[in-house]
Amino acid sequence: MKTKSLFLALLSCLFLLNLSLAPQAHGARVYLVVDHGVEQDAEAQGRAAVNGVFDFFQRIYGIGLQRDLRIKFSCDKLNYKKAIQDWYGASESQAHLTASSSLGVQRQGDLIVNLGDINGDYQQLFVLCHELVHFYQAQESLDKHGALGWMLEGTADALAAHILETVGVKNARGYKSCWIENLKKVRGVPSLESLHTRQGLMSACYTYGGRVTYATSALAVITLVEWRGYPALFTYFRALKNCSPEDAFYQAFGTRAGDFEKQFRPF
Ligand SMILES: [Zn+2]
Repeated sequence: MKTKSLFLALLSCLFLLNLSLAPQAHGARVYLVVDHGVEQDAEAQGRAAVNGVFDFFQRIYGIGLQRDLRIKFSCDKLNYKKAIQDWYGASESQAHLTASSSLGVQRQGDLIVNLGDINGDYQQLFVLCHELVHFYQAQESLDKHGALGWMLEGTADALAAHILETVGVKNARGYKSCWIENLKKVRGVPSLESLHTRQGLMSACYTYGGRVTYATSALAVITLVEWRGYPALFTYFRALKNCSPEDAFYQAFGTRAGDFEKQFRPF
């Protein structure tokens, strides 16, 4: 019941945003493909969320869509895996691994979300927003967005939370304290230094669990946002076009990534 009411409140907020959409928000083409097995409610919510996120980036950060975006809502793991093979040219075993360990993926403007296998309206929205943030990271950095593992995933989670909070689902303090509470309950939390590379981040997901690893990354990003504001995140991703990750980080946040990683504690 709680999720449903949240969902309806959010949906109306997103539709309101959508109705007042600025025309320049859609400078690029968007293709949406929906599997037959996706429930109508989930599809309607997904469509509204996609438009809501476009509008959010345009209005709040002045960032429009500059590259075409192809989105697939899959209804189950089998179709999700097939889409990964078809759209990314992945082998069967690669697609199986990705489909088993993720609920959404984004590569160079192609975004696939396993909507049918995500429990709950709220989680569906979160995953969709997370993957759309990856799309904007890729667009702004010309696909050089993955240089720092924890910045890549932490920004996607922190901004997904911020978007949902802005349209009225939860407040930012709710997210932050929820992530901190979850981390306090577990035995071990990865150091931020160990999440520096994407490989490091992936191996931490195996050791500590994806939830703990992503929450640690998101809390690090929120710390940066509290210092420099959300626009600094895009200063960083844009700078990656022409700079090393270290220089891009310094330009955006005025400190060295290595120093920040050493000093950061999630709570
Ligand atoms: Zn991600």
